[in-house]
Amino acid sequence: MTPDPLHCNNSSRNTTNSSENVEARGKRIRLDTMTSDKTFAAEFVNCSRIAYSAAGLLYTVATPIGNLSDITYRAVEVLKSVDLIVAEDTRHSKVLLDKYGITKPLESFHAHSDDSKLDLLIRKLLAGENLALISDAGTPGISDPGFRLISKAVELGVKVIPIPGASAFLTGLQAAGLPTDKFIYLGFLPIKKGRQTLFKKIAEEEKTIVFYESPHRIQKTLSQIAEFMPGRYISVARELTKIYEEFIAGPVEEVAKKVKPKGEFVVMIAPKDFKKFNR
Ligand code: SAM
Repeated sequence: MTPDPLHCNNSSRNTTNSSENVEARGKRIRLDTMTSDKTFAAEFVNCSRIAYSAAGLLYTVATPIGNLSDITYRAVEVLKSVDLIVAEDTRHSKVLLDKYGITKPLESFHAHSDDSKLDLLIRKLLAGENLALISDAGTPGISDPGFRLISKAVELGVKVIPIPGASAFLTGLQAAGLPTDKFIYLGFLPIKKGRQTLFKKIAEEEKTIVFYESPHRIQKTLSQIAEFMPGRYISVARELTKIYEEFIAGPVEEVAKKVKPKGEFVVMIAPKDFKKFNR
């Protein structure tokens, strides 16, 4: 029986002899050499094999984080070539697509999209359509809902091709003057539970910390940084690549006084022993 690729985890379990040779990604693989968990290996290859043979490609295409010129030639070429563009907010993305004369059909996929939308997109891929996933800003899958589609595609053996470009946390780090040989990206901080424990950990951290913050919570977050890390050097990047782009840097207490709670933010906290306060 052919397993349903969308529900491989259940349907293909125990259906393949663990010592069988199978064809996957153009190679013959002995299942029992893949992993010690032979049932998992059988299941994975079984799923990949059917999905991979005829599936289309999923491009994850980075788009600008503000300035519409921050897009690569390759990104535009790919967006013009695919069968369908999957966007978080189709109306928002249409502004960018119109600017570059991209007229491909659009489908939405966002945080509130249910599993039936995910299934629909996966079925299109498995039927051979090429899809491009974009988010409202920056790199798809980085702290945005695109992750679910990418993860399912990878699980099923669909080829995922990254088209690199802007990401807000890297754009912030690019000009903050903080150590970037090693850093920790935290996405969005937890809103309620776990914040205090996290701030205690960050206080002892020897790497630069970078995370995203909303205008509604920026002041609260800065006052908590000041509470747990008095005097700590931070850099807040606001409205990156846009008209009112600014970096406000210094001891957290001073930064908190200057930050306007408006726009989009990347917050960067210097390592514990960072001594550069005279920026
Ligand atoms: N996928 C995106 C990326 O690659 O950066 C991030 C998506 S996340 C849902 C959106 C958050 O990124 C915003 O709330 C803000 O904290 C940050 N962000 C996005 N654009 C920004 C900008 N132009 N300036 C500062 N922060 C930005």
